[in-house]
Amino acid sequence: RQVTTDARDPRDTHCPYCALQCGMTLSGAEPVEVRPRRFPVNDGGLCQKGWTSAALLDSPARLTTPLVRVDGQLRPASWDAALDLIAARLSEIRARHGADGVAVFGGGGLTNEKAYLLGKFARVALGTSQVDYNGRFCMSSAAAAGIRAFGLDRGLPFPVTDLAGADAVLLVGANPAETMPPFTQHLRGAIQAGGLVVVDPRRTPTAERASMHLAPAPGTDLALSLGILHAVVAQGHLDESYLDKRTSGFAEAWRIVASWWPERVERVTGVSAADQRRVAARLAAARNAYVLTARGTEQHADGVNMVSGWINLALALGLPGTPGSGYGCLTGQGNGQGGREHGQKADQLPGYRKLDDPAAREHVAAVWGVSPDSLPGPGRSAYELLDALGTEAGPKAMLVFGSNVSVSAPHSGNVAERLSALDFLVVADLVLSETAALADVVLPVTQWAEEDGTMTNLEGRVLLRRKAIDPPDEVRTDLAVLAGLATRLGQPVEAFPADAEAVFTELRTASAGGAADYSGISYDRLRAGEALYWPVPGEDHPGTPRMFLDSFAHPDGRARFVPVDHTGPGEPPDAEFPLQATTGRVLQHYQSGAQTRLVAELNTVVPEAYVELHPDTAARAGLAEGDLAEITSRRGSTTARVRRVPSMRPDLVFLPFHFPGAQRANLLTNPALDPTSRMPEFKVCAVRISAKEGA
Ligand code: SF4
Repeated sequence: RQVTTDARDPRDTHCPYCALQCGMTLSGAEPVEVRPRRFPVNDGGLCQKGWTSAALLDSPARLTTPLVRVDGQLRPASWDAALDLIAARLSEIRARHGADGVAVFGGGGLTNEKAYLLGKFARVALGTSQVDYNGRFCMSSAAAAGIRAFGLDRGLPFPVTDLAGADAVLLVGANPAETMPPFTQHLRGAIQAGGLVVVDPRRTPTAERASMHLAPAPGTDLALSLGILHAVVAQGHLDESYLDKRTSGFAEAWRIVASWWPERVERVTGVSAADQRRVAARLAAARNAYVLTARGTEQHADGVNMVSGWINLALALGLPGTPGSGYGCLTGQGNGQGGREHGQKADQLPGYRKLDDPAAREHVAAVWGVSPDSLPGPGRSAYELLDALGTEAGPKAMLVFGSNVSVSAPHSGNVAERLSALDFLVVADLVLSETAALADVVLPVTQWAEEDGTMTNLEGRVLLRRKAIDPPDEVRTDLAVLAGLATRLGQPVEAFPADAEAVFTELRTASAGGAADYSGISYDRLRAGEALYWPVPGEDHPGTPRMFLDSFAHPDGRARFVPVDHTGPGEPPDAEFPLQATTGRVLQHYQSGAQTRLVAELNTVVPEAYVELHPDTAARAGLAEGDLAEITSRRGSTTARVRRVPSMRPDLVFLPFHFPGAQRANLLTNPALDPTSRMPEFKVCAVRISAKEGA
């Protein structure tokens, strides 16, 4: 058994932010401070967000009492009054509109225990099908493409430390130098060997470190993957032996690839044919190579096909399931991996089971002590759910846990309107987020160092974060909130435990036999510091750090090429909206910024929204450095401070999405959805830019 850390001391914990889940230690003295801890993913490194993460523990912005809206104002209330009110209003709305009249919205930062109990709460205590979460906006396209190709999705099917042995890494739509800086140490082998290739329309800090940076026109990544694959085949680098032994479907995929020769791809993407051929040769020449994707290529209305294009390339080179090489997706949110495995998703049950699979329903229903027929079917996906709120056919009430959708969802002007149209909105959060500010009841909940719980990091490794400090007096865990509500809605106390270890024990049973099998993982094993990567199908099983080495998860054991073709962005530029906008993250902020905007050390560095654009583009719009610009799409306008960046494509503007109100980048974004994953097209929409009037 591999033991890589000692988790016996609760002060040895993990960062509350991204999916890397860096190891850190909390100081014993007050105020609590954070120190980096040697842990394989970060090896003693932390980014600025991690270093400053203790600031929110005793922030004056913390919510410390339930709030109930009275005469339009949020006023302090007791827990009993708040929970009684919620139970009464939900019961009334369910009686009037049926079980689907109430929706539940979760988050990819919630612990495994919370994600599990939230899904159970929705389907058992409320009986609603209307449950989904913000991970739908994050990794859903990569998950769907991974399942299609390999039969199973685990972000990285290998430990992140394996990457250090690679002499070539193709990073597509990923900017870890800003989003998870300690991760970049694992790219050192590729950087030293001149084999780091970055595909990104922007010259990001990650692209700066690359040997080759390919900057395709936004929304044309799929064409680029086809061109590089075409070059691999033309150069004689197809791994025919791997294809014979381990894959199926190449001939069908090739029928499309054959017509995408590099010169044709150059006309669509702007990436030269020579560069495409150079990348093909570089990847093929590597002893060990990886293809890694992230949000840049996934958050599109054809995001699943885009990822499939890159997986096809990896398969053609014989990488997935080969020791020292592979394909993986860099998960974003803290529990982006575990959050999609335990049942808070509209179409899933715990153990990464499909909700419409009769055997899965029977297994989980037995664990929950209910009839399989009583479990609702699949509900609306995240954006479709938000878009339906308060409509005649849609939910009239919603409970939100761990998500700030009024800032982070696409077409956020519409989402804010839909939230306002609800009869009843409940938000559980640490702080009064922009979504919480719209609620009828706000519930103050604990954060990472104040509660027990497990997280599954981007490698599929399950980590225990233990309660190290007491929360403020009137703050409760999300599990306690769900338990309190469930009993008020008539559920037996024992069906909704508030204790994290008890919930995890039930989760183990519910996940047994599923794709993400946690049945062999226990708090005792995690406390002892065992490195447990799922699946772990028994207490004596050592876990599965590397997947697919012998066979893939399809019944025939083979990985599948998927025939995919370039279609282009859903909203191409035109005379009215001649530019394209893309969105992303910056080093100092996390997701909607609800937490990091409250940390002075972070917010003083990037205190407001900005827009990056080429100096010529700025000049054409009459904009100078530091001017306030108005950026407009078909859905709305946002304001941002101008940053002229010579490396930007002249047809592109970039906006970080962490800012609220009139600075929301998501006022612009296009809610066109991928037909399979239901991922919105965050990464490209048509816009125009001008000076902000009156600024
Ligand atoms: Fe936290 Fe991610 Fe930064 Fe590590 S890289 S310190 S997990 S935000």
